[in-house]
Amino acid sequence: MEREADLLDTARANVDRAAHRLGLDEGLLEVLQNPEREITVYVPLVRADGRVTVFPGHRVQHSSVRGPCKGGIRYHPDVTLEETRALAALMTWKCAVVNIPYGGGKGGIRCDPTAMTPWELEELTRKFTRMIMPVIGPHKDIPAPDVNTSSLTMAWIMDSAEEVAGEPVPGIVTGKPVGLWGSLGREEATSRGLVVVVQELMRACGIQPREATVAVQGFGKVGGIAARLLAEAGYRVVAVSDVSAGIFRAEGLDIREVSAYVRDNPCHLLAGYAGVGVEPISNQDLLELDVTVLIPAALEHQIREENAGRVRARFVVEGANGPTTTAADRILEGKGVLVVPDILANAGGVVVSYFEWVQNIQALFWDAEEVNARLEATMKRALGEVLEAGRSWGVDLRTAAYMLALTRVMEAMHARGLLPRARALAMMGGSGTH
Ligand code: NAD
Repeated sequence: MEREADLLDTARANVDRAAHRLGLDEGLLEVLQNPEREITVYVPLVRADGRVTVFPGHRVQHSSVRGPCKGGIRYHPDVTLEETRALAALMTWKCAVVNIPYGGGKGGIRCDPTAMTPWELEELTRKFTRMIMPVIGPHKDIPAPDVNTSSLTMAWIMDSAEEVAGEPVPGIVTGKPVGLWGSLGREEATSRGLVVVVQELMRACGIQPREATVAVQGFGKVGGIAARLLAEAGYRVVAVSDVSAGIFRAEGLDIREVSAYVRDNPCHLLAGYAGVGVEPISNQDLLELDVTVLIPAALEHQIREENAGRVRARFVVEGANGPTTTAADRILEGKGVLVVPDILANAGGVVVSYFEWVQNIQALFWDAEEVNARLEATMKRALGEVLEAGRSWGVDLRTAAYMLALTRVMEAMHARGLLPRARALAMMGGSGTH
């Protein structure tokens, strides 16, 4: 919980820093740092053993100025309104930086899903859905999976919403099963977006895939798939790790074989993997490898003041949310390491969520090639815009991404007449618009 609080402080500090560079006054910053609306519900559930438990749940809508609110729903014992509020704001900035027509939202239920039966989880989800129905909807606020929720949870939400609405509303959630209005390409989308970022950076620097070495921390949904896609694209993935172990091979790992091992291992972990020429490596040493690209894709705050000075990668592309602390950012910047921030690098998932919603609204299904091509175009454009913003504002890419996001939100507020006109024009004219 303490770690999560740190992460939320870091996110707030990133907004403060960008706002300061844009010259925003305190009043406007207060508007941007606070949500438009938040609702708390208390969901009563008759448990399998006959007891009644009440679960607090939240849905926070940080901003709807650029479009409907968008963001996941998590089930975790640590869920609080404060955490949900901060995560909702992050979604506003993430959607704005990749320029999809959404604001930001987030939801959660304080519960321990590991101590609940599947039937209890379904019932909890259905009751929660009915209680937040007044504020969600395909044109209001669109939830998605997050920690401990899945495509099945989204199917329950959609089904419950349709019972209330009396008609199909597939666009009310994204991340649904492909057989129930879900989009092809959604599961791989975050990793595929990350890989597009790596490929674009290498292309811009004239580095051929076979010349680039990559280390990936975390071998789950984001890191595992990113490592496989990069290896398929010809990159030399020399190290990967998960919570159980780390492995290193200077000539490059056989990622297909490693993935098959993890898939077939009953605990789905790297522990015990032994390929030819493969050496064990600690998570700390992996972060300090002399590689072209480092992809932290496990946990927050892995690159900190203590170890940032020893990072030797040329590029850090953030798969996880908040893997780099503010102090580490300054150290990496001083060393000339280019950090592509999480709100851009791992936005592929929300981009394909947007595509799912577009398909649902049109009742038209795209094939995987179309989804992937559109994702690639969106990520390339967003990266290009953040690189350009960094150059023109003379700031690191994280600050540039936040400045760009804040500017886009303020442009929408300005167009709606929500900003004092003279000040808005002066501010945007003074800082350059993108
Ligand atoms: P996941 O649970 O599928 O995978 C997490 C991986 O990290 C696992 O391999 C786990 O073993 C490893 N790990 C856990 N503790 C570790 C430790 N101490 N050292 C090294 N490895 C450790 O989760 P995921 O969906 O891949 O998410 C990873 C990160 O990416 C999170 O920060 C998440 O918020 C972020 N993210 C995920 C998505 C998505 O679409 N899944 C989108 C945006 C951001």
